[in-house]
Amino acid sequence: MNDHSKKHHKYEQTLAVIKPDGIQRSLIGEMISRFERVGLKLVALKMFTPSKTFIEQHYTIDPAWHEITGGKALDQIRKRGEDPEQILTPRAVASRILERLQHYMSSGPVIAMVWQGAHAVKLIRKLIGGTEPLSSDVGTIRGDYVLDSYELTERDDRAIRNLIHASGSVEEADNEIKLWFKNEEILSYKLAQEVILYDVNLDGLKE
Ligand code: GDP
Ligand code: MG
Repeated sequence: MNDHSKKHHKYEQTLAVIKPDGIQRSLIGEMISRFERVGLKLVALKMFTPSKTFIEQHYTIDPAWHEITGGKALDQIRKRGEDPEQILTPRAVASRILERLQHYMSSGPVIAMVWQGAHAVKLIRKLIGGTEPLSSDVGTIRGDYVLDSYELTERDDRAIRNLIHASGSVEEADNEIKLWFKNEEILSYKLAQEVILYDVNLDGLKE
């Protein structure tokens, strides 16, 4: 395989991690099945219980994570009128979110996977739905299988339970895959259905 062929869209990869609640809800097969049926190829998979340090590394791969996520969360908090004196800062809010995420994500086994195929990043984000299950679209994993909201998580001081993580961009996927998997754990193989998904001429179907 040369560098040119590596750049074809069919080599795009993304990281998906079934979170502890996804495992506990017995949704492993359901989630994998949704990714398989759209035509994506599973090229790496492992199950383990992550440490809190590892989870911190995962969420802070982007150095701007604290500012971005903290800022977004603070807007939500203010919209709900929960910070009337405007004393919170994005960094403080993000640190609180990170602590909750560390507790949540290290509470039990997770399944980390690398999925490959054209538009893998966008497709998996579409299939899992928006971050907050209360507003995730119907038909998505987070919209169909869980009922959590930011309002509830603020009241209970815990992370939002949204079943699964997936990389948000190709760049984020590259960085996250490097963190979660060694190079040799990612497999390179042909899947029979790739003929119908990617072959330009379809000249190998007739007997
Ligand atoms: P994702 O890519 O859809 O998981 O969302 P993000 O990358 O924006 O955020 C990562 C994690 O941070 C989410 O899964 C949530 O647990 C948490 N998070 C993000 N935004 C908010 C927010 O506005 N409020 C709270 N409480 N948590 C948030
Ligand atoms: Mg994200």
